[in-house]
Amino acid sequence: MSGRRIRRIVVHCSAGPASQRAADIIAYHTRPVSRGGRGWKAAGYHYIVEADGTVVEAVGEEGVANGARGFNQDSIHICYTGGVDARGKAADTRTPAQKAALARLIAGIRKRRGALPAAGHRDLSPDRNGDGRITPDEWIKQCPCFDARAEYG
Ligand SMILES: [Zn+2]
Repeated sequence: MSGRRIRRIVVHCSAGPASQRAADIIAYHTRPVSRGGRGWKAAGYHYIVEADGTVVEAVGEEGVANGARGFNQDSIHICYTGGVDARGKAADTRTPAQKAALARLIAGIRKRRGALPAAGHRDLSPDRNGDGRITPDEWIKQCPCFDARAEYG
């Protein structure tokens, strides 16, 4: 297979309510900045997993999605809707359907592309103290609000 050399799967949350729809996230990412969007060429994630477990392909795997600066050329980005609780605090809000869909999606990608490691967006933060581990004090953001390496790595 030609095309992109994929090195990892990166797991994100949308940092919004779990009821968010994939179509709205895609529209927000690709709408011009002048109209309140991010103005990106493509959505920030390849796949978006909605609260009921529906998986929406937002960008084809051969395309580059704008999920994590410095890691986009060789990553597949997947996102579940949610990641904040009712008070707006970072929280693992994955529904059982989202958990099942994420596991199925990651297994499917690995079946097609080999045993890719999976990490959370926060695990890509810089290792500021150089101890070889990305610890909570080094996270540049909470995303995806759970330990994706422990669960899917
Ligand atoms: Zn993220």
